[in-house]
Amino acid sequence: MNVQQFPLIASVILDVSVDKTLDYGILPDQVSAVKRGVRVEVPVRGQLCTGYVIAIKDKSDFHTVKGIAKVLSEIELLDENTFELALWMAKYYCAPLRQVFKVLLPATVRKEGKHKEQLFVMRAKTREQLIDVCIELRKTSPAQANILDVMLKATKGLLLTELLEESKGSRSSVESLAKKGHLVLDIVRVDRSPLVNEQYFQTKPKTLNEEQAVSLNKLTDCLQNGRFETHLLYGVTGSGKTEVYLQAIDKALQLDKGTIMLVPEIALTTQTIERFRSRFEGKIAILHHRLSQGERFDEWHRIRRGEARIVIGARSAIFSPVVNLGLIIVDEEHEQSYKQSEEVPCYHARDIAVMRGKMTYSTVILGSATPSLESYYNALKNKYVLSTLKGRADAASMPKVTIVDMKSEFEKAKGYTNFSSLLLDGIKKRQALGEQTILFLNRRGYHTTMMCKGCGVSIRCAHCDLALTFHFNENTLSCHLCGFTLSPPPKNCPSCRSPDTMKFKGVGTEQIERSLHAIFPDIRTIRMDADTTRHKGSHQKLFRAFGSGKADVLIGTQMVAKGLHFPEVTLVGVLNSDSSLNIPDFRASESSFQLITQVAGRAGRGVTPGEVILQTSMPDNSTILHASNQNYEKFYEEEIATRQLFRYPPFVSMAKIAFSGDTPEKTIAIANQMRDRLLALLDKGFELNPVIPAGYAKVKDKYRYQFLIRGPAIYPIAQAIDSIRQSMKFPADVKIFIDINPTSTYF
Ligand code: ADP
Ligand code: ZN
Ligand code: ZN
Repeated sequence: MNVQQFPLIASVILDVSVDKTLDYGILPDQVSAVKRGVRVEVPVRGQLCTGYVIAIKDKSDFHTVKGIAKVLSEIELLDENTFELALWMAKYYCAPLRQVFKVLLPATVRKEGKHKEQLFVMRAKTREQLIDVCIELRKTSPAQANILDVMLKATKGLLLTELLEESKGSRSSVESLAKKGHLVLDIVRVDRSPLVNEQYFQTKPKTLNEEQAVSLNKLTDCLQNGRFETHLLYGVTGSGKTEVYLQAIDKALQLDKGTIMLVPEIALTTQTIERFRSRFEGKIAILHHRLSQGERFDEWHRIRRGEARIVIGARSAIFSPVVNLGLIIVDEEHEQSYKQSEEVPCYHARDIAVMRGKMTYSTVILGSATPSLESYYNALKNKYVLSTLKGRADAASMPKVTIVDMKSEFEKAKGYTNFSSLLLDGIKKRQALGEQTILFLNRRGYHTTMMCKGCGVSIRCAHCDLALTFHFNENTLSCHLCGFTLSPPPKNCPSCRSPDTMKFKGVGTEQIERSLHAIFPDIRTIRMDADTTRHKGSHQKLFRAFGSGKADVLIGTQMVAKGLHFPEVTLVGVLNSDSSLNIPDFRASESSFQLITQVAGRAGRGVTPGEVILQTSMPDNSTILHASNQNYEKFYEEEIATRQLFRYPPFVSMAKIAFSGDTPEKTIAIANQMRDRLLALLDKGFELNPVIPAGYAKVKDKYRYQFLIRGPAIYPIAQAIDSIRQSMKFPADVKIFIDINPTSTYF
């Protein structure tokens, strides 16, 4: 149709195809419904495609445009601010807008209209009756029996989608069960809020100490004036940061402002979350990746309707449609899990928090006992407001830290040993007193690798560039990158073929547990690592068991390092403090320092003072020394000087361009082509490193290469990449991956 026939024109960006906007006419009866952010169906070359309206204009640059076929969502899914944020993200993170929308809106929400026709399945007979039916059906129709199995386990009923997913059954099987009168199907809108059926004791705000009060006052002032400001709340573990968050949220509520609070990982922060629930019961929405599709959908709409005023969740919760957002909290802001590194857009939720705060005039709190170098730098430069909590809030005192030189322990023991004598004495003493110990080791499995004594070759994954890890209980070697397993482990060396030369090397959590039992036969242990926490709710179960005194020692990987509050833990042993220091990455020292400090913070959270033992073979390493003294400032001083000297963030902006392909030759060639083009487009202020293999040079049979760009800002890099992408044809079998401000330059 001619442009004049439409009162208004919409610029639409399509879900599929190129990142280019197309103009469509808005018919008079569509005018009220079509707004920025609305999802529409439009004709493209004879087919209907879906996309988003990104702008409304008076006229088009084209003479003829087609009309919008259908307006899909009756409400605008994204408010003005979030939309603005999406456009910014696409530009900054060099990501197609449709990819950005994928992280901004949960999949269930993007497929609009679902909530009106959710089918809910319930039992139409008693459990006993259905068990009999099930036994009968097992012979004639096993598929239907499977469905009944799942229904028998359900407490009330299940959404049809959930039932089909769990039983792997078909809709027709469910329907025939309903026809026979065993089940009923109902079209309902159920509120699947994950909070129902749980009760909490209401807790009262605590009287703040001086330091807490000072930082809360600064926050309150900012909230009241609706001023965008970022506050870095820096305080040791147990200094009362969480109490400050709670009271700031309360303040925001009084001002009718909503809050988003990010936590590194929901499963590991149950204790923190329970404190929030108990104070703000009913007003909270908790978003975590184990919510069912239906739950996620409901929570999103509960937030959007303004019923949930406080949202707690992992990194993607930063995009929640909170009504009248006024406060954004990033707890443990230094945590690397806030960065999305596996998928485009590679956003950092902390940076998004600050950006979203700016766009919505919100107060942003970044809290940490070990702030990221970037944030502390920004605070010292007065870009952020710094609030420091120096002491512990309750009676607890800081733990006493001892460094043990493992080299002399090996000499004493005349060979390798997992435990220093100081640590063993400590564990024994705690067991006798009924106190608890946490042992931390950053490696799961039994032994790390299997190596040949004859030729020195270790057994590697057939598909990845990584040595396999031995798991005692299953008697297998497995790859921690792709899951490949070799069972049983080979007797002869696969390389030199010599028999009886294979030996194990390195230690994992599983072996620590066994060797501890060998030393103290009656010791009770709980092990927490990726192997023991595969099932839903297993974290909580293990934590609860330990918290209620069912074990003397908790052995674990990073999972035990963070956020836990067990008053009976008076000893923490870090078995191998230097393992993460040896990774060739510019953040190695920073993450080691953070990890050691976090683990150490688990000791002495109750009345009895705590003790921390750091085992290391580098007792003079300054990162370990500073961590043992809990001296963040000193660590920061040294580390920031190194960053400046070697030109790393926060002194430069950085992008990692990674490639993966079927053959090394082709992958390198494409990487070099891209690098040459960028070199030509960027000015001298930008530095491009050579193309090198990635830290894991091969993963799942794909070869991986990468190069780094460093320079004064991200935008020119992003623009250059964008223009190259439009002109350069990439072969389909080489994937390019853009990581802006990567957390690691190695992997
Ligand atoms: P952080 O978040 O910095 O680790 P928390 O807020 O969890 O610290 O506080 C540690 C402990 O101190 C908690 O048990 C908390 O209830 C208590 N606490 C915090 N602030 C106060 C206060 N002002 N008075 C008394 N106890 C407090
Ligand atoms: Zn060999
Ligand atoms: Zn593998």
